[in-house]
Parts: sequence; C-alpha cells; structure tokens
Amino acid sequence: MQFEFTPRVLALRAELLKFMDEHVYPNEKRREEELAANARAGRPYAELPMMAGLKAKARERGLWNLFLPESEHGPGLTNVEYAPLCEIMGRRYWCAEIFNCSAPDTGNMEVLARYGTKAQQERWLTPLLAGEIRSSFAMTEPEVASSDATNIRCSIRREGDEYVINGRKWYITGAMNERCEIFVLMGKTDPDNADRHKQQSMVLVPKNTPGITIVRDMQLLGMYDPPFGHPEIVFDNVRVPVENILLGEGRGFEIAQGRLGPGRIHHCMRAIGMAEAALEMMCQRLVSRVAFHKPLSEQGVWRERIAESRMLIEQSRWMVLNAAYRMDTVGNKVAAKEIAMIKVLTPNNCVKVIDWAMQAFGAMGLSQDTLLTHFYAYERHLRVADGPDEVHRNAIAKQELAAYQ
Ligand SMILES: Cc1cc2nc3c(=O)[nH]c(=O)nc-3n(C[C@H](O)[C@H](O)[C@H](O)COP(=O)(O)OP(=O)(O)OC[C@H]3O[C@@H](n4cnc5c(N)ncnc54)[C@H](O)[C@@H]3O)c2cc1C
Repeated sequence: MQFEFTPRVLALRAELLKFMDEHVYPNEKRREEELAANARAGRPYAELPMMAGLKAKARERGLWNLFLPESEHGPGLTNVEYAPLCEIMGRRYWCAEIFNCSAPDTGNMEVLARYGTKAQQERWLTPLLAGEIRSSFAMTEPEVASSDATNIRCSIRREGDEYVINGRKWYITGAMNERCEIFVLMGKTDPDNADRHKQQSMVLVPKNTPGITIVRDMQLLGMYDPPFGHPEIVFDNVRVPVENILLGEGRGFEIAQGRLGPGRIHHCMRAIGMAEAALEMMCQRLVSRVAFHKPLSEQGVWRERIAESRMLIEQSRWMVLNAAYRMDTVGNKVAAKEIAMIKVLTPNNCVKVIDWAMQAFGAMGLSQDTLLTHFYAYERHLRVADGPDEVHRNAIAKQELAAYQ
C-alpha cells in the first residue's frame, strides 16, 4: 500500500481545495437563498441557477468526473487516488454535484459505462457525463424488506418488443429533480426462476414515460431534500422497448452487486470529509465559548471527545483507504468484506463525531444556523441506505465463519 499521494493526486487535491475556498464555501448563503426562491416560485426541485456556473468552472479546471475508473470516458483515477478528493467534496453535503461526482448519478454512469450497449451509452451516458441530465436508481419498495434485494416485487413482463413494468418504489433519490430524465430500475423478469438471484433484471426507464406517477416526496428525519428529493413512485403498465434492458434478462442482481461496491465506498469517503468539517466546527466553537468561567475546550470531557473524534476519523480514513486499495488490486468482488466493514464503521464513527459537534453548539447545533443537522441526517441515513448495518455485519461474519465450517 502506498502512503503518499501520487503527483497527479497532489495536483488535483490542490486545485480542489482552492476551488472549495473560492467557490463552494463563499456560496453557501447564496445556495440557501436560491433554494428559498425556487420554493417561493413553486419549483423547489428546479436546478439552482448558481450550479450551472460552478459546474462550468469545475470542468474548466479538470475537476470533472473524477469518480470514473479508467475508461475511454474519464481520467481514470484508482479508488485510492480518488479517496482524498472525494473526501474533500464531502465537506459540504451538496457540492459533489458541482464536479459531476454525486450519487446516484455516479453509480448509474458506472453501470452504463460497464454494462450499457453503444446505443444506451450514446442516449444516456453521454449527457450524464456532460452533466446535462440527472438520473435515479429505483430498487427499494415500501411493501417488502428491500435490504434483501431478492424480495423485490416490481414486475417487468415482456410483451412483444416491449417490457411492461408494474410496481411501487420509494426513497428514489434525485427523482424529484426537474433535470432527472432516466431511472435505472430493478424488477423481476422471471419471478419463478429456481435461482433467486436470476429473477431480477434492470431496465432503463425514461422518467417521462406514460404510467409513471410520482406520488409524494419522502422526508429524511423530518426534512425534505430539494432540489433532489427521495420520492415514492408508482409504475402502472409502463412500457419501454426491449432494447432498454441492461446486460440481459436475469442479470439485475449481478449488476446491483457491481454498482453498490463503488457507491458504498464513495459514500464513506464523503462521510469522512463531513466528519472532518464537523470536528473543525466543534473545535472552533469550544475554544470560543465560555461556560462556568472557562472556555469549553478546557473542560476534560470535551478534550476527551475531541481526541476520540480524531481517532474515529483516522480509523475510518485508513479503513476506507485499505478497502480502496483492495478494490484496486483484487477487484470489487473479492474486496466485498472490506467494503462491508467500512460501510458499517464509517457512518457509525462519523455520526458519533457529528453528534458531539451538535452537543458542543448547544441549541444552535440543532438549528438551521449550522450545517450539522444536514450532516447528521446524511450520516444517519447511511446506516440504512445501500444496505443496513446488520446486513453488512452478517456478510462479514459469514466470511469469517467460512474458514471454520
Ligand atoms: C435518504 C434515503 C435515500 C435512499 N435512496 C435510495 C435510492 O436512491 N434508491 C433505492 O432503491 N433505495 C434508496 N433508499 C432505500 C434504502 O436503500 C433502503 O431503505 C435499504 O436498503 C433498507 O431497505 P428497507 O428500508 O426496505 O428496510 P428493511 O429491508 O425492511 O429492513 C429494516 C431493518 O431490518 C433490519 N434487518 C434487515 N436485514 C437484517 C438481517 N439480515 N439481520 C438483522 N437485521 C436485519 C435492519 O435493521 C433494517 O434497517 C434510500 C433510503 C434513504 C433513507
């Protein structure tokens, strides 16, 4: 394992840090104002006017599509190289999109790059890579325990040259956004197949296809999440051409496994950046706030929490780098245990750090005047999304026990 950044990463990192200082942090207030203006105009899910300009600047500086592994479509950073960059983007929960590096588009682009036909890539991957449109990934269903993807019920039935889709999905991130044009949808083409992992398929479903109804947006810890949203969606006799299948019938589970590995590690990388930002806020607050005649930072309990936070962050970072290294060297499938471990460890560690930061700010930490409630919601949702903690722990234990059985 390398313990130094490569020259390429050093250059990108310096550029990215500069970009954050010049364009991200100074625009936070403007972002809030634009969100409020969109809401007043009755279009809470419209793109924020400031984003187009920021994206153009990021692209000019070569800070674009950095997530994409080596291919004809992107610069081809390894996971280890991307980790410190993705972490910086995570310092603000909204800014990865500026660099076209936000979920769920990154996962969908990887799926299209890896499994899409030339026609599918031209129609959907090209505009996604250019940041012209957005996409969603539609797997979870309210009626079934979706952490076990074999439970998925949404039906994809072939009729002549078309697939007919019927089902209900929810928590489909990004699907409220006005620029979202395409869903990567998982359902069942062969529900009676004896092999439970061959029943599923993935199809590309344009959002404007007749039969799609967005029922309602869902909240995360009591908050809506414009301009992206996580809606509940009904698919009622939705018809798409058979060419919209990805990889082939019965290959959905396999694609989901390939998609979720990189998606999970990217979430963890961003989570570390968010926890770093929370620790920074916490320290600034503690040295400047006086209670009972001395700064809070002089109280032993806070020193303990600061030290603990630093250790939790470093532990997460090194575990994530180790998982990234394994993915780069032995492949995503063999690195499944390392990915599962960071998917449990990182959000739990980072939630802890953010929770202490909220505590340090007193009432303000629970208010709209810091970013901490957003950070908390992001990290907390990661303990459920992309596989709940318990499912990953089971997978880790299964691998450990395999040697003894
Ligand atoms: C903000 C947000 C965004 C999301 N975005 C998307 C998206 O874009 N696309 C998408 O398809 N989905 C998305 N999801 C859904 C998410 O991936 C699912 O919620 C997750 O996979 C869990 O499925 P479930 O909600 O059906 O929980 P269930 O499967 O019903 O599980 C409930 C609980 O049961 C427990 N459990 C489950 N299995 C086991 C086990 N083996 N052992 C012990 N306990 C267990 C866990 O504690 C788990 O939390 C999002 C969710 C949130 C909150």
